This record gives sequence, C-alpha cells and structure tokens, in this order.
Amino acid sequence: MEQHVFQIGPIRPPSEANSLLLRVTENCPWNKCKFCMLYKKNDFHTRPVAEVKKDIDTMANYRDMILAHKDGENWNMPAVQKEYAELPSDEARMCYQMVFTWLTEGDSQAIFLQDANTMVLRTEWLLEIVSYVRERLPEIKRITSYGRANTLAKISEEDYRALRQAGLDRIHSGYESGSDKVLQLICKGTTQEEQIIGGRKVRDAGIELSIYFMPGVGGRELSDDNALETAKVINAVDPDFVRLRTFVLRTGSLMEEVRAAGNYTEETDMEKLLEIRKLIANIDPAKARGRITSDHIINLLQEVSGDMDQDIPWMLSYIDQFLALPELEKRKYQLARRMGFPLDWKQLYRLKESDLAYIEDLAKNTVDEKQWETLLHRYMDRYI
Ligand code: SF4
Repeated sequence: MEQHVFQIGPIRPPSEANSLLLRVTENCPWNKCKFCMLYKKNDFHTRPVAEVKKDIDTMANYRDMILAHKDGENWNMPAVQKEYAELPSDEARMCYQMVFTWLTEGDSQAIFLQDANTMVLRTEWLLEIVSYVRERLPEIKRITSYGRANTLAKISEEDYRALRQAGLDRIHSGYESGSDKVLQLICKGTTQEEQIIGGRKVRDAGIELSIYFMPGVGGRELSDDNALETAKVINAVDPDFVRLRTFVLRTGSLMEEVRAAGNYTEETDMEKLLEIRKLIANIDPAKARGRITSDHIINLLQEVSGDMDQDIPWMLSYIDQFLALPELEKRKYQLARRMGFPLDWKQLYRLKESDLAYIEDLAKNTVDEKQWETLLHRYMDRYI
C-alpha cells in the first residue's frame, strides 16, 4: 500500500457522527457568516479528484486490512494492535483508527463528504467521486454532503438527477433563517428565494434534504420575522428534516460587532423558546410532512421533536406545559439543562439531591435578570 493517510476535515453534522468522513473540498467558499468561527483563518480549495480517489483507495485498503482480523463476530485484537503500531506515522495511525471505529462502532454503510459546501464542486467531478465511492466501498448505502442554499439553487435539475442516480442520498444545508432581513444581518450570502428554489430542486430529484435553522439569530428586533419567514420556507420546501439550533451569541464572533452597532439584541433563553413556539405554530402540516428535531444540547426543550404533519399540536402543548410551570420550576430546569442535564423537565427529580439543592439555590437567589442570563450563557458557551 503506497499511501497511508487520507485527509480528515474538522466537522460533520451531528447526525453523521457515525459516518466515514471523506474530505472532498477544504474549508468554506463563502466564509463570511457573522456567527461562524469555523474556517475564518483558512482559504477554500477544491481537492483534485485523483487525490480524493487515492484517499478512497486508502480507506478501502485499511478496511480490507482490518476485516482480515475478523473471524465471524470475533476480532483478533492483538493482530489489529500490532498492525496499528507498525504503521509509519501518527497520521496513518489516526486514519487506521478512524476506519476501525467506523467498522466496529459506526455506521459502516454511511459516508459524509466534507467540508462546508461540497456541492460547489463541478457536477462531473462530484459524480466521479460518488461513483468511485460506490465502486471501492460497495458496503456504503448512504452518501451525504453539505451544500449552501445559494449553491443548491444554481445546480440544474438534470445534474441533481444524475447525482441521485450515482448515489448521492442526502444534502445537509445550514439555512439558519428563512427571513431575508435576518440573512442579510448575519451575512449568510443567500436569500429566501434561493433557499426555496434550491430546496425544491433537491427534493424533486429524490435526494433527502436536512435543513438547519437558528431560532434567536435575528435577535429581539427580528424575532417575529425570523419565526414567520422560516416557517414560510419550511412550508414551501417540505424538507425531510428540520433541525433546530437555538442561537447563542459566541464570544469572539463577528456577531459581537453587529450587536455593538446596535443592530442585534440577544433574546433571553425564554424569548428564544417563544420564538421556537411561533415558528412551529406557523408550520402548515398539509405542506410540510418531514420531521422536525431539537437534536442538539443547545436547545432548551430537546423533546420538541416529531413529524410535522402529525405532531405539531403535541409539540405546542408540550412547550405550553413548560411555560405554564411556576417561575422557580422553569428556572430550575433551565439551569439544569444549561449545565448539561440531558432529559426533560419532568425528569428533574432524577438529579442527585445535592445537585438539585445547588440548582434551586442559584435559581432562587440570582434575582437580577441580566445576571441570570449571563449565568445561563456561561454554561451554554461550552456547547457552541
Ligand atoms: S457557509 Fe457555513 S461554514 Fe461557511 S461561513 Fe457560513 S456557516 Fe460557516
């Protein structure tokens, strides 16, 4: 085997945590979103197709080497460890380990194409890569990628059909907001119209679409607009998945400048929840039939999740039950959640007595609203 390493990019959607990662492009071709700190110091590059194919070969070779140590359901771990130790570099060992983890603990039928906007690649190159994945890693049943809305709007129906046929299964896209005013505020470089055109084309080609929204990203000033216009996009696109990522202003991001200029006031944790309620209340179950999820710790109520054509009344009633709790109970749950409590408020009794007492004490005695929000923010900083 000539090549021992393949590139690994920095991120993938949480739902692709178990997928093999194939870096097809490097960094982000837009790189201007005010809230995003991910690629700010790096320039965008496409990788030559021949180089990406070599990475796929390396993955396939590691897969073969590793599977040679499997007998039925049993792994010959001493042989795996010896092979790992004999690899020529730390990078090679990291790649071997990634393939091993993918085969043993991950979803050995899924691969995600990195980085931030692989769909910007020329379609014929992408087709060549997707086809090569299918050829060299035939166990792969699901190929997914990120794509920016304005890129998605430019790709032709014909190209989407070809990509679907070659085996592209799902596109993840950070729409963030459906409101043109908010998109401008955060410098997203796309419009509501492009989101709808791009999203519809993806869906019409039979490719699954998973879109991400950030309740709260328009601040108090644009909260209503953010909720209503986002619901409008969801109704028009009918995506397979809507994933909520409650916005929290990150220290060091360019959103601090937007705030300093007086164009953005961060909502309180509760105001953001009310915005989520408004967004969900305006989704039309006759038009949007996919699934909405709160699958990130940054969302206050992770249980707000369901099929948009069936579960909206349930989700609204769940939020309303929480909002109707006595103030102290709400605060206790808020704080517990922001400290990392993974369950809903009905499970709060499961916390250790001493933890509950500590939380209750803080919730009762942090009277000043500003201090309270600062306290919550400090905990949330760990998740963003
Ligand atoms: S498109 Fe995505 S990766 Fe690029 S700057 Fe915006 S949020 Fe960051």
